[in-house]
Amino acid sequence: MNRFSVTVFCGSSPGSDPAYAEAAKALGQGLGENGMRLVFGGGNVGLMGITAAATLGAGGEVTGIIPDFLRRREVEFHGLTELIVTDSMHTRKRRLFALGDAFIVMPGGLGTFDETIEILTWKQLGQHEKPIILVDILGWAQPFVTMVEQTIARGFARESVRGLFEVTPDVPSALARLRTLRSLSA
Ligand code: AMP
Repeated sequence: MNRFSVTVFCGSSPGSDPAYAEAAKALGQGLGENGMRLVFGGGNVGLMGITAAATLGAGGEVTGIIPDFLRRREVEFHGLTELIVTDSMHTRKRRLFALGDAFIVMPGGLGTFDETIEILTWKQLGQHEKPIILVDILGWAQPFVTMVEQTIARGFARESVRGLFEVTPDVPSALARLRTLRSLSA
């Protein structure tokens, strides 16, 4: 059986509160300890780098996927189990999507929103049914949830879009959910 793989979208910055880095570290470590493969954007920056280092530190496997032009700017993470270099952001996003059995969204910036919205819209259009889990560290996900609710209220999205994603309050609950998903997929 293939190892259960989790694609993590998160900030290329560490964020303004140390709680974000602590959560990223706990997530990375938890993935490694649970024998789950981390799939991420391949950069050694911000929460991305912290998550990857923690998974590797816990003896886990990590696949990074980075476009060639970003290798310098995002500082490619050396020492990953596997580094896939793509020719564009679009190919990177396709690979990040294809390799994940589930998606975890941690705090991040516009790039994180872009990646999250894209897989949500693919799911809305019936292109996949993979779980998408937002981890609400320090209430970070609440403006996103509010935006979705506003969109529904204004008649621009169906009520069913609420079911496209899940929100968990913290890293332990996200890891528990991933263990359940893995057992369901076995
Ligand atoms: P950020 O959340 O903005 O810190 O970025 C997180 C990840 O998203 C990084 O790996 C960025 O390379 C990536 N990213 C940034 N901007 C975009 C974009 N316009 N489209 C897709 N990915 C992006």
